[in-house]
Amino acid sequence: MNRSAIMRAVPSRDTSAELKARAILRPIASGYRLHRADLPGKPDIAFVGRRLAIFVHGCFWHGHDCRRGARMPKTNVDYWRAKIGRNLARDEKHRAALNDMGWKVLTIWECELADVAALDKKLRAFIGPPENSSSRQMSAARARSPKAPPAGRSAPRR
Ligand SMILES: [Zn+2]
Repeated sequence: MNRSAIMRAVPSRDTSAELKARAILRPIASGYRLHRADLPGKPDIAFVGRRLAIFVHGCFWHGHDCRRGARMPKTNVDYWRAKIGRNLARDEKHRAALNDMGWKVLTIWECELADVAALDKKLRAFIGPPENSSSRQMSAARARSPKAPPAGRSAPRR
């Protein structure tokens, strides 16, 4: 990673990753709050009533277990490793603190933004059906759709 790539990866508020994540989220659910300073880790997105927090994390800065996250600058490797290690520890602390408060936490990784359909599904599963909505039962049924095939389907050999 060269210097300009590192500069681009510097985390800041309203990064393009975060904006993209919000664009995917918008049709799924409304009423979220951004960067609530009163919550551990200032979640990028928070549904306060439902106690759902979403962090949008850059793979490099938050040490994601992916190709992008594994890439290391050629110089000052110790410095970057230590810094990312601290970020990881902090992320874990924030997650634990939110969990203790009864919140559920979802991390959206920068690399996941490439697959909008998969991310849409992940967000819907996390957020669940809309509150106070007539379509509640329908979306609940959709959310319950089984991932595994029913048991006992293996056909006998003939
Ligand atoms: Zn990643």
